Amino acid sequence: MKLNVDVLRYLSKEDFRVLTAVEMGMRNHEIVPSELVDRIASLKHGGTYKVLKNLLKHKLVHHDSSKYDGFRLTYLGYDFLAIKTMVNRGVFASVGRQIGVGKESDIFEVATEDGTILAMKLHRLGRVSFRAVKSKRDYLRHRRSYNWLYLSRLAALKEFAFMKALEEHGFPVPNAIDCNRHCVIMSLIQGYPLVQVKELQNPEAVFDRIIGLVIRLAEHGLIHCDFNEFNIMIDDDEKVTMIDFPQMVSVSHRNAQMYFDRDVECIFKFFGKRFNLSFEEEAYNSDSVGGDVEDGSRPSFLSINKSAGFLDRELAASGFTTKDQADMDKFIEEDSAGVAVSDDEEDPSNSDEAIVRGTDALHLVEQTEQVQEGDGQDEVNNRESTEGGGSNE
Ligand code: ADP
Ligand code: MG
Repeated sequence: MKLNVDVLRYLSKEDFRVLTAVEMGMRNHEIVPSELVDRIASLKHGGTYKVLKNLLKHKLVHHDSSKYDGFRLTYLGYDFLAIKTMVNRGVFASVGRQIGVGKESDIFEVATEDGTILAMKLHRLGRVSFRAVKSKRDYLRHRRSYNWLYLSRLAALKEFAFMKALEEHGFPVPNAIDCNRHCVIMSLIQGYPLVQVKELQNPEAVFDRIIGLVIRLAEHGLIHCDFNEFNIMIDDDEKVTMIDFPQMVSVSHRNAQMYFDRDVECIFKFFGKRFNLSFEEEAYNSDSVGGDVEDGSRPSFLSINKSAGFLDRELAASGFTTKDQADMDKFIEEDSAGVAVSDDEEDPSNSDEAIVRGTDALHLVEQTEQVQEGDGQDEVNNRESTEGGGSNE
């Protein structure tokens, strides 16, 4: 997806105010009634409608009049809100070329004021099934669980929390710099995804390092769950960095062993095929093998000394709650089954009235951002008040 940020420069304060109002309305509407946008934005003299037209022209919102006259944010609109917040915080100053596209994310280079290049990952959870979900759920007023904004924001929050925690525990991961809405900013890894690497000086050593990581993760109570040649970066010195963490689970997950074995198998298969390493055909469940892969047999999940609880502790500390995790799990499971259901209770804090009352929050956002533009600091304040539409919890 192309990200033309030139438009960003031409958007006025009113434009962002209305865009934020649409975001807020999306807490309880897939399509936000125009009249509600107007009430939240509370611009004078019907100004909201003129602004909406401008936002529509720039594809920041989508107009839908099939059931009633209303709007929703587009990915681009959500991207702009996150980017503007980050730019105001001084995290980066400009957006460059796209360096990666996944099924559920887009990755761009961004540059800081002093020219340092960083990586920006925009999560697109629900991109695949968004249409199906939307068509069923337009009228469900309190179903944040399938809202792609909400899910993408959770994915980003989880990824950021993990990256930070893993870094603190000495794992080779990008440096986690900041997170807002569905957007994660991290250091740019020099090198290539393993899938692009045709030759290695020392494939055995790289292989050992990578399998060592899977084992060390499990010792810390974690399983990557998508540990493969696309999510492992290799630089010219054959240093390994792992990326892409939204799907990680705890070793206490009911399918933990299957996920662990699958991660291990991916690596064995890839190195066998690409670098002709040969391995013993060892059964997974043998607990005689332990974390030792010297003999070319698969490490055994059962015999690893796992410290479960890491995940819960670290994530709780980051503000990513077990409820957030449950929401993500639910989405992922239901998504793969092709149905989306939720058993969320009706939540009175998500009524239109509560959101319009919460317009105070909008004033706060703007005030903070003005302060922000002034001194470029006070991150905590800003973060709390600009967290975005899906963040009400
Ligand atoms: P997805 O969840 O969509 O698979 P990833 O986090 O795996 O997203 O990123 C997709 C691609 O973007 C990666 O395969 C890699 O090529 C590139 N990429 C992601 N993060 C970085 C980074 N920090 N530095 C350099 N390239 C990155
Ligand atoms: Mg990936």
